[in-house]
Formats: sequence, structure tokens, C-alpha cells
Amino acid sequence: MLEVVERVLDFILPRFCPLCGKRVRFWSIVCDNCLNAFEGPLTGTFSVYQPLDGTYHFWWYEDVVEKAVKLYKYADRFSLAKVLAVWLDRTMRYYSLHNLPVTFVPTTPNAFKERGFDTMKRVSEKLERIGYAVVETLTARDVPSQAALSRRERLRNVRGKYRTLSETWLPPELVIIDDVYTTGATLEECARVLKSQGVKHVIGVTVARVKKDQISKKTM
Ligand SMILES: [Zn+2]
Repeated sequence: MLEVVERVLDFILPRFCPLCGKRVRFWSIVCDNCLNAFEGPLTGTFSVYQPLDGTYHFWWYEDVVEKAVKLYKYADRFSLAKVLAVWLDRTMRYYSLHNLPVTFVPTTPNAFKERGFDTMKRVSEKLERIGYAVVETLTARDVPSQAALSRRERLRNVRGKYRTLSETWLPPELVIIDDVYTTGATLEECARVLKSQGVKHVIGVTVARVKKDQISKKTM
């Protein structure tokens, strides 16, 4: 029965993969080729900057991963939140982080006004649906744009950008998720704030990581 419904819907409202344009089944958000384009997570060793206790990434910020992030954030493709959640889930399972509580880097008020939604909160909600314990811990204020800033400048720029929500219960150990890791300044600042409020262990997990030689070209 469901198959018949699907075929009818497919016929009336054909759907296409937003990442490659290929026709997809009615219920699918992206095609299987794009969803599985990369065998993430990245397993290379990256230097970890305190106060973070580790950083893990699904894939480099390139190809369909970059496209998915950009369409989700800047082109109102809300359904892609689920795809980003799938990639984050694969990463957390691979590194056995899936039983830890998850929090997210909050969207700034200006970005919220532009996009109309909190980028990573929506992704967190998708993770919650597949069994993750999500805690909202941080709030952000607007600071000047990070684009074209060096790592050191970014660290200075984000200082004071985040603070913990009042009356939020903070677990001793947390995974904090974000879409793109560029220099790490954002995650480090979030970890600093969380630790100043008593969290002992903070691990950053992002959908993508910008390659070192592309940092200046791909900053957002
Ligand atoms: Zn596709």
C-alpha cells in the first residue's frame, strides 16, 4: 500500500536531490550517492587546542558536504538538517561518543534574523529523535564577522561571544556540535565558557573541517 502511495506521490510531485539534481524517492532528502559520497569520519590526527578535549569531523569542507552545509544555512533547505545529523551521528558512533550528552554552538541573533532559525539547534533536534540526549547550554551575542581573520584574531574576536544559559543543568562531560571547523576558535571559546561553569570534559564534533591551505578562501 505504502509503495503505491509513494509511486503516486512520486509521479505527482517528483523530488530531486538538492546536492546533485538526480531524481530521488519521495521520502528521501538527498540521493544515496550523495549521502554516502564519503566514508567519514576523518581519521587523521589533528592537534587539539585546550580547553577542548578532542575534535572530530565527518569530512573535509568540500564537494557535497560543503554544498549541503551551504544550502542548509543560506538557501532555506531546512530538510538538510537531517543529513547533517546523519553525518554527525556516523562520526560520534565511530568514536564511541554517541552515549554522551550533546550540546550545540548557538546561532547569533543577527544570523537568526537572516536565516529565521538556529542552525545547529535544528540539527540537534534531529539527533534527539534518533536517541541522543540534547542539552541547550549556550547563548550567543553578535560580534564582528570572523571572515578573513587569522586564528589568533579569531580567538580574540570570539572572546565573550558565548555564555551559558541561566539555570541550565550542565553535565560533567559534553559533546558540542557545529557545522564547520575552520580554525577552532568558536569551539574553543564554547569549551572555555562551559568549563568555567564546571563542565570537566568537552569534545567538539563538526560536520566538516576546512583544509589548512583553504582557510582564507573558505571562511564564512
Ligand atoms: Zn545526490
